[in-house]
Amino acid sequence: MPMGKRSDRNEVVIAGAGASGCIAAICLARRGLHVTLVDKNKEPARKIRVTGNGRCNLTNLFQDETCWYSEESPAFMEPLLKFGAEELMGFFEDMGVRFHDRQGYVYPRTDQASVIADTLISQISSLPVTFLGETAVTDISRRSREGEKPFLVRAGDKKIPADYVILSCGGLAGPSFGCSGDGYALARSLGHGLISPSPALTPLPADRKRIKSASGVRCRAAVTALVDGQEIRREEGEMQFTESTVSGIPVFQISRILTRALSEGKRCTLKADFLPELEGEELDRETAFRMGMEDNLTLQEVFSGLVHPGVLRMVLSDLGLQSEVKKRKVSPEKIREILRALKECTFPVEKPGGFAKAQVTAGGVPLDEIDLNTFESNIVPGLYLTGEMLDVDGICGGYNLQWAMTGGYLAAGSITERTDL
Ligand SMILES: Cc1cc2nc3c(=O)[nH]c(=O)nc-3n(C[C@H](O)[C@H](O)[C@H](O)COP(=O)(O)OP(=O)(O)OC[C@H]3O[C@@H](n4cnc5c(N)ncnc54)[C@H](O)[C@@H]3O)c2cc1C
Repeated sequence: MPMGKRSDRNEVVIAGAGASGCIAAICLARRGLHVTLVDKNKEPARKIRVTGNGRCNLTNLFQDETCWYSEESPAFMEPLLKFGAEELMGFFEDMGVRFHDRQGYVYPRTDQASVIADTLISQISSLPVTFLGETAVTDISRRSREGEKPFLVRAGDKKIPADYVILSCGGLAGPSFGCSGDGYALARSLGHGLISPSPALTPLPADRKRIKSASGVRCRAAVTALVDGQEIRREEGEMQFTESTVSGIPVFQISRILTRALSEGKRCTLKADFLPELEGEELDRETAFRMGMEDNLTLQEVFSGLVHPGVLRMVLSDLGLQSEVKKRKVSPEKIREILRALKECTFPVEKPGGFAKAQVTAGGVPLDEIDLNTFESNIVPGLYLTGEMLDVDGICGGYNLQWAMTGGYLAAGSITERTDL
């Protein structure tokens, strides 16, 4: 990456060249500030390449307070109202990227996450940004002697004096992309607190033996999070089974609730309804129809037009039945019971999903420790904290990139306003 023109004034060090750090670097450098952008990865925007299954769900046209969680503060909407979907899309449109949306979920028009990553990289390369790749920021110290810049940042074997520091190191989700919680340690060393991080938007572990027949299946389902027997949230969509987990968007959406509740010692259950479109009379009609089918058919044949055979085998096995059993061998009441079991299939959740497969981190640096207009620390003037390392996590749908990029943009805006260029 080319070295830009250096200036003695207004040096900004950005720790973390992810979604948030890249936007901040671009905005600062465009205004003539010298930026050193540091990342543990070889190149900026590494994680962006895998977002949205390689398509990058950048943002969402629908945004309100139900789209993000924060453990302690509901104030996260304030910055999002200043730099939301329209502004974020505009930022990339000015660099030539075009978008399309699917029911409000915004993707680059080419459906390639690499378009977003490459656009950020090419912009950074053309601006006075010094990028230090494969380098970790390991320490940030404050200095108060006259004539010295207020921060000294240790990055690899370098010590970089800085007027402003942006911490945008992400959280703990996606450790293979460089995210291992360094930002929390750096923030704590400067006096910030930490709300215990936990994985969110993640698959949930399930009993391998029980789900074996369903492994690899993708099917429509409504999943409900139950905490101590109470229904907390229901999500409908494509549920997936792997060898050892239940997964898919509806599971991701409720994983945060169950993971946080588990950490509080609560009893957690995921309930799957594999026939969410059938309720009341329609369910009664379907039950009567299946009861009336040929007695010589196997249970597999009776239900094959209704549910995936892998799911059916799992549910039948829960009831002590096998799919090869002839219908005539089971009572009509049993047929009703099978349909009920397909609508109320419960999975005890005893362990949280790990960070390795999580898309985002819940918890982080408390929001009341930063000014949400600017993302500047209320504890250390000149220090900014942005993105996933803060105590905000979005639901699936482009909300996490939006949050990260909003922070990067507003932090850069605040720094440029304060500098005397
Ligand atoms: C598989 C996957 C798919 C996802 N898909 C989507 C999606 O489609 N839409 C969406 O909105 N969100 C998605 N997310 C979430 C989203 O990518 C993140 O929430 C977002 O990137 C967070 O931005 P950030 O800038 O805070 O941190 P990150 O983008 O995580 O960047 C942090 C950077 O800091 C660097 N770093 C860490 N410690 C140091 C250190 N000590 N020194 C230097 N550098 C350091 C890391 O290497 C990393 O590059 C996905 C996440 C994953 C894992």
